[in-house]
Amino acid sequence: MNTISVRAFGTEAPEADLKQMNIERRETTAKDVEIDILYCGVCHSDLHTARNEWHGTIYPNVPGHEIVGRIAKVGKDVTKLKAGDLAAVGCMVDSCRECEQCKKGREQYCEKGNVLTYNSYEKYLNRQTFGGYSERIVVDEDFVLRVPENLDLAAAAPLLCAGVTTWSPLKHWNVGEGTTVGIVGIGGLGHMGVKLAKAMGAHVVVITTSSSKVEDAHRLGADEVILSTDKEQMKANANKLHFVLDCVSAQHDVNAYLRLLKVDGTLALVGAPEHPLPVAAFSLIPKRRNFAGSTIGSIAETQEMLDFCGKHNITADIELIKIQDINNAYERLLKGDVKYRFVIDMASLKN
Ligand code: NAP
Ligand code: ZN
Ligand code: ZN
Repeated sequence: MNTISVRAFGTEAPEADLKQMNIERRETTAKDVEIDILYCGVCHSDLHTARNEWHGTIYPNVPGHEIVGRIAKVGKDVTKLKAGDLAAVGCMVDSCRECEQCKKGREQYCEKGNVLTYNSYEKYLNRQTFGGYSERIVVDEDFVLRVPENLDLAAAAPLLCAGVTTWSPLKHWNVGEGTTVGIVGIGGLGHMGVKLAKAMGAHVVVITTSSSKVEDAHRLGADEVILSTDKEQMKANANKLHFVLDCVSAQHDVNAYLRLLKVDGTLALVGAPEHPLPVAAFSLIPKRRNFAGSTIGSIAETQEMLDFCGKHNITADIELIKIQDINNAYERLLKGDVKYRFVIDMASLKN
């Protein structure tokens, strides 16, 4: 298969900085859309993968799965999109389309393993996929999303992962009017979780380790804020929440958050720390609590979430950076020093 050479930013090894490189992408096939990338959000998963914290990173690695851009060209069998349209790509670029989960429209749970936007198997070129820290991407139209025209494009980019990863579990566990939901960890995912849960009609409780985020959490939509480092506040809020969405990227004591759940309440992990998180039997047993997990969201859910955000005018709070600042941005992300998502202005790659 023919390829095109594309400028990108990626890394050659777990301890290496990201730097400019050229990668090969497949030429646009009949069902593909070629997108000029305008903006790409910086997810903590990019950092976990670039540094091989989840193991299994294939190098060179080009991260980025919060992609917004404009379509440069489309293959001859593409029907839903055309050159010049705005388009977005999230965490997946393909799946088997035949298994039970794919047939149910839950490609994120594809039984054969979906094709992730980066660090997955690229069947056409027989090597790893490369993500959105690049000038251009080629994706099957079935995995390309439409972006509502009224949204700021840079601030919409984080919806493609942080948005749908919080939307999907909030919907699955029926968060809305009459539910009290706790959002733990107010980073890229968490701050989107607060905005979405509030717009869904829930009573939203932010649980943060950062005293500097207490004020801001109310602006994002929190009805209540708990500083989790204050044992008294945590104790006073035991058994109060129907659902907790845990968006924490680092090691933490999940038992402290499980204790905030009512009888039959569920804590769903979306945060994916490097090491296992011990759960005490008595955090679950006495209140019949559930400990669960959730991964990204389907293509249909992603479009549904984007349309909802268009209607309610919801985007991420972002800090726009140049691609050359990415290594510094990773260091700041580790310190929680971003309100609340870095987004790369991909025009900087052409400099
Ligand atoms: P992020 O922006 O770095 O936010 C993580 C937040 O976790 C921080 O802002 C901080 O919030 C909190 N935190 C950090 N260290 C903590 C600690 N030791 N104890 C308690 N809280 C701590 O990261 P992100 O991009 O939102 O991603 C969050 C996690 O979700 C990552 O592990 C990422 O890989 C994962 N993820 C999973 C999926 C999925 O499909 N399940 C999708 C995307 C991302 P406070 O300051 O408020 O405490
Ligand atoms: Zn992500
Ligand atoms: Zn499948």
